Amino acid sequence: MAREITIVGVVGLGTMGAGIAEVLARSGVRVIAVDVDAAGVERGRGHIEHSTSRAVAKGKLDGGARDALLGLISYGTALTDLADVDLVIEAIPESLDLKARLFAEVDRIVRPEVVLASNTSSLSVTQISVHTGRPGKVVGLHFFNPAPVLRLTEVVRTVVTEPDVVADVVEFARRLGKEPVVIGDRAGFIANALLFGYLNHAVAMYESRYATREDLDAAMRFGCGYPMGPLALLDLIGLDTAYEILETMYGQSRNRLHAPTPILKQMITAGLLGRKSGRGFYTYDGPDSPTVVADAQTPRTSSEDTKGVREVRRVGVVGTGTMATGIVEVFASKGFDVILRARSAEKAAAAIGKVGKSLDRQVAKGRLSEEDRNATLGRITPAVEFAELADCDLVIEAVAEELSVKQAVFGALDEVAKPGAVLATTTSSLPVIECAAATSRPQDVIGLHFFNPAPVMKLVEVVSTISTGADVVATAGAVCARVGKHPVHCGDRAGFIVNALLFPYLNDAVRMLEAHYADADDIDTAMKVGCGLPMGPFELLDVVGLDVSLAIERTLFNEFHESGYAPAPLLEHLVTAGRLGRKTGKGFRDYSR
Ligand code: NAD
Repeated sequence: MAREITIVGVVGLGTMGAGIAEVLARSGVRVIAVDVDAAGVERGRGHIEHSTSRAVAKGKLDGGARDALLGLISYGTALTDLADVDLVIEAIPESLDLKARLFAEVDRIVRPEVVLASNTSSLSVTQISVHTGRPGKVVGLHFFNPAPVLRLTEVVRTVVTEPDVVADVVEFARRLGKEPVVIGDRAGFIANALLFGYLNHAVAMYESRYATREDLDAAMRFGCGYPMGPLALLDLIGLDTAYEILETMYGQSRNRLHAPTPILKQMITAGLLGRKSGRGFYTYDGPDSPTVVADAQTPRTSSEDTKGVREVRRVGVVGTGTMATGIVEVFASKGFDVILRARSAEKAAAAIGKVGKSLDRQVAKGRLSEEDRNATLGRITPAVEFAELADCDLVIEAVAEELSVKQAVFGALDEVAKPGAVLATTTSSLPVIECAAATSRPQDVIGLHFFNPAPVMKLVEVVSTISTGADVVATAGAVCARVGKHPVHCGDRAGFIVNALLFPYLNDAVRMLEAHYADADDIDTAMKVGCGLPMGPFELLDVVGLDVSLAIERTLFNEFHESGYAPAPLLEHLVTAGRLGRKTGKGFRDYSR
C-alpha cells in the first residue's frame, strides 16, 4: 500500500527550499520548514510571502488561498521538529559533507519508514544514503528553479532504493502537479548533465571576451528561443551552486568541459553569487531582485558607435538558395534596392519567384497588403553578371557552404565592387577570414550569419575577423537594426556563438541516449519541462537534420580538437543509415507512421 504523505519536512529554505515549501503548500500539504538559524528561517519565510503575494497581484492566486497556503507552513530551526513528518525533502547547500551529516541526523529523528529525499543537483544520492540506516528509503527529488513554475522533477533512484519508495515518490510528485522522470544516480542527472556543459561554455566565452554578456544571452534567446540566456540563468541558479554542480560533474566525468571556468571561482570569492546577492554576471537592484540595473559593463549607445557607419542603400545578394532568397526578402521588404545575382537568368527568376511566393503567403494571412507585396518585388532586380553588383553598398554572399565556391565569389566581388562596399558572407561554419583573404580588401569583409527562416528569425551574428574594420562592424550592426534584426557581435571561430553553444549540448544528449542512461522521450521532457527549452534535443536534431548537425559537430571538433565535441557514434550511424530526421521520415524518431 502506498505511503500516506500529509506532512512534509523541508530542510534548507534558500532559493530552492522556499520554492519547494510553496509548491507543497499550494497542493494542500502541511509543511514543517527548517533552516539552520532564525535568519535563514526569516529569509525563507520572506521569500515565500513575497512569491505568493506576487501571485496574488498577478491574479494567479486569491487572497484567501494565499492565507490558507501560508497557514500550512510552520517554521523552525530544530531538526527535532521533523519527528512527525511523512517525508523529508532536503535543500541545503550543495556539499556532500553537509548533506551526509544532515541525513545521518534526520535518520535518527523520523520514523523508520519515512522516505528521505535530497534536492541535490549533482551529488551522488548513493553517497548521501549510506550515512543513514535506511539507504533503501533515500531518493533524489530534484526540483527545478523556480520550483513553483517549472514542472519537471527528476526522481533519482540508487541501486538500493526500494521500488515502492520510487513509486510513492513519483505518485507524490504527480500530486504536486509535477512531471516526474525516474533515472539512475549519475552526476547532474539528465537536465543538469546536459545544461551545465553549455552554461560553463558560455562562461568561458564571456571570460575570453569572445562576446559580451548581453550578446551571449541574446544569441541563445533569439537564435534558439530559449527563455533566458546562459549568463542570466547562472545568476538565477546562483554561481556558488553552479560551481559545486560543475565540480561534481567534473569529478565524475573528468570531462574538461565540466571543469568550472576559473572566473566563476573568482566571482564567488568576491561575493558575486548572482541574483541572491544582488550581483553576478549582471547587477540587480538589490539582493533577490530580478531587475537588472546598468553597470560598468552595460553597453552605451554613443555617437562613438555610429562613427564611420557607411551609408547602405543598395544591397546585392549572391545565391538562390533558402538563405539567399530569405535575405533578399528581408532587405527588399524593408525598402532597400536589392540585386539578386544568380548563375543564370532562369535561376534568378526562379529565386525571385520564391520570394514572391513567400510574400503571397503573408498576403493570404492578412499580414501584408497587395500593394506592399508589389512594391517589395519591384525593388528586386535579377542579375547574372557580377559587374551588375558594382553599385551595391553591401553585398551578401549566400552560396553553397564550400570554401572554394565562396572564395571564387569573393574574388569576383573584389574585382567589381565599388570601393567602400561592405562584403559579407552568411557562412555558418567556414572561417570568414578565408573569404577576406580571397580579396584585396579584407578590412571590408565581415560575416553576417542569418538564421533560417531569415524573414522570421531575429538574430544575426555579426562576425568580425582580425582584419575587419571597426566602421564595417558598425555598419553591419546598423544595417541589421534597420531590417529589424537583433545583431550580436562575435569573433571568427567555428560555430560563432549559437552553434558552438548548441551543438556540443545536442551531442551530449546523443551520448546520454547511447549510454542508456535515459530514453529520448525522457531526455526531451527533461529539457523542455525542466529548462523551458522550446524543443528537446532529439526533436531539434530531427528538425535540423542529422547530416547538417553532424557536419557542424565535425567542424567544431576539427577546430577545437576538444574530445567532448567528437560526434557521438550513434549520430554518425544514423546518418550513414540515411536516417536524417524529419526530411527523410526517420531520425531519432519515426515520422513515417
Ligand atoms: P541556497 O544557498 O539558496 O540555500 C541553502 C539554504 O540552506 C540556506 O537557507 C541555508 O541557510 C540553509 N542551510 C545550510 N545548512 C543547513 C543545515 N545544516 N540545516 C538546515 N538548513 C541549512 O541553495 P539552493 O540554491 O537553494 O540549493 C539547495 C539545494 O538545491 C542544493 O543541493 C542545490 O544543488 C539544489 N538545487 C539548486 C537549484 C538552483 O537553481 N539553485 C536547482 C535545483 C536544485
